[in-house]
This record gives sequence, structure tokens and C-alpha cells, in this order.
Amino acid sequence: MDELEARSGLDVRRIVEVLIDTGRRPEEACQLPWDCLDATADDQQVLIYTDSKNNRPNRRLPISAETAELIRGHRENVRQRFPNTPLDRLALFPRDQMNPYGTFHVGVPHMSTSHRAFIDSIADQLLDDAGQPYPAAVIVPYAYRHSYAQRHADHGTPPDVLRDLMGHVSMQTTMGYYRVTEKRVRHAVNQVAQHQFDSQGRRVFADVAGLVAEEHARLRVGQVAVPFGVCTEPSNVKAGGHACPYKYSCIGCGHFRSDASYLPELKSYLQQLLADRERILAATDVQEWARAKAAPGEEEIAQLRGLIRLVEDDLDQLSAADQQRIREAIDVIRSARQTVSLGMPGIALHQDRP
Ligand code: SF4
Repeated sequence: MDELEARSGLDVRRIVEVLIDTGRRPEEACQLPWDCLDATADDQQVLIYTDSKNNRPNRRLPISAETAELIRGHRENVRQRFPNTPLDRLALFPRDQMNPYGTFHVGVPHMSTSHRAFIDSIADQLLDDAGQPYPAAVIVPYAYRHSYAQRHADHGTPPDVLRDLMGHVSMQTTMGYYRVTEKRVRHAVNQVAQHQFDSQGRRVFADVAGLVAEEHARLRVGQVAVPFGVCTEPSNVKAGGHACPYKYSCIGCGHFRSDASYLPELKSYLQQLLADRERILAATDVQEWARAKAAPGEEEIAQLRGLIRLVEDDLDQLSAADQQRIREAIDVIRSARQTVSLGMPGIALHQDRP
């Protein structure tokens, strides 16, 4: 961005930053008036713009506090450059030439040309997710609008909300972004599935490879989700995860599968078991038989430790590049998991222990 500013000035830099942050069309960003900020009753920041494609003025877009701050700072800068122009006539991004009062905004052709020169100047630094050269030609100002929509889809913004944010007339246009998300999640699941283990520490790649091809709802998590992995027990799967015949003793169950994307949950469960054990062993107000009954089983703790070690060792054996790929795939999967219902059983494991 410093490079862009040095080449084309602060206004062009700020336009590109607004494009990236808000996903507006290039002409909508270029034509923003000086007074384009508002706040809701609970002090959430809003950008006021004109939907240029559908000719709808005074559209209100929620924006982050950082973006609002960036615009506010820029307004001050513009105000100082044109102190005598009434604010309701000032452009937020005034063009450089033949503009003595700051009332004409930077044109889209000028901004696009400046942006093209900037991108071409850093073309050798552009890489895709796999570290391969990324074509500079496709990075055009309008592409930031697609990135904005894709970020929302990836982070689980509901389609009707995203449609509103984008100002799409057709829902089909909005849904296109979710199909890309689905493709990305499918790819991520495929990658991580190769590192999945059952409760005995056996690799279950073949099973999972088959599962990955199945229907959408099951794709994201394999089969039915349980707190630290997936369950393949047919009657429980059929019941959507609410009919475990073994009281959710997943760590010791042959139908349980887990992988590196569940490591945080596996580790947190281990910590919970260890803390429970300490607490119960330290209790002085229970008899020995009750203590033995309430304390987490040593077998469960050992098996859980073994599973965590196995998953971590499996990852350690990968090359640095493969580890990075798996880490990125895990991020995609965990993000998708937060945004879909996983059908998790409503009872915590430790409460179910006999
Ligand atoms: S114990 Fe866990 S993995 Fe086994 S059947 Fe029940 S929910 Fe499924």
C-alpha cells in the first residue's frame, strides 16, 4: 500500500483500501461523498453509498470500526486540502487535476490504471495458497468485491444477509460464493481425511475417502459429529447423533474417528479428564468405592494420550510444505464447523460416565 501511495497518491491508496474492506463496486468507492459515515444507535459504524448498478442512493453498509477510522482520518486530510469548500460538496477522494475546490472525485479509469501499474510492479511477489505464482492480470479493482463476498461466505454469513450486503438482485448470484466455499471445504476434508485414525490408532483413510464423496451435510465432518471427531455407528448416524448405544464413550469405541482438525478438542478433553481425576482423588468426603467410580478411567486417559500422540507424530512426519497445507486445510474445516450444525449430542461426555 505504501508503494501504491508513492506511485499514485493517498487518495488512490485509500480507495483501494475501501474496496478491499467494503466490497463496494469501484465507481461506488470512487464517488463516495465526504459525509459518508454514520453510526447506529449502539454505535456500530455504517458506510452510506449509492448502489450504482441498481441506482439506489443512501444504501447503508455495516463496516468495521477500523474502516470507519481510516475514512475519518482521510476526511480530515481532505478537509485541510480544501478548507473553504462546503462539506456537502466535497468529494471524499478528490482528483488531483483541474479540481480547485475538491468537488470532483477520482475517476474509475484513473484509479484502475494506477492500480494496474501497482499490481504489475509487485507481480513477482503474488503467490497463491500453494505458493505458486498468481496471475497479476486477474487482480483488478472489481476483484476485491468478489473477495469480500467470498470472505463472508467462508465465515458463515447467511446467504440472505450476504445478498443484502452485496446488493444482489438475484439470490443465485449470492449462492455462487457458497458453492466455492463448499468446493474449498471438500478439498480440505480430502486432505485432512488422509490423516484420520480410529480409537485404536489405526489409519482409516479408505473409509473416509468413500465418505468424502457423500452428501453435502455429511461431507463437512465425515459422518455424524461427536465432540472430538466423528461417529460411524449406523444407528447413531441414522438418529443424527442422538442415539449412541454406548453412552458417548467415544475414545474407547470402535466407531469413533478423529484427525488433526480435532486436536484442540482432544487436548482440552485430556486436560479436563486430568483435572477431574485430581479433584476426585483429592476429595476427602467420598468413600473409596465412590471415588473409584467417579474418577476418569486410567485406560481412557492413556488411550486419549496415545491418540493425540499418534495424530501429532503423523503430522510431524510430513514435509514442512505438507504440514503447512494441512494446517491451512484444518483452518478451513474448523471455520466451516463453526458455521454449520454438527448434530453434536447435547450431553457432555464426562457427565455420562457411569
Ligand atoms: S461411543 Fe461415540 S463413536 Fe461410539 S457409537 Fe457412541 S457416539 Fe458413536
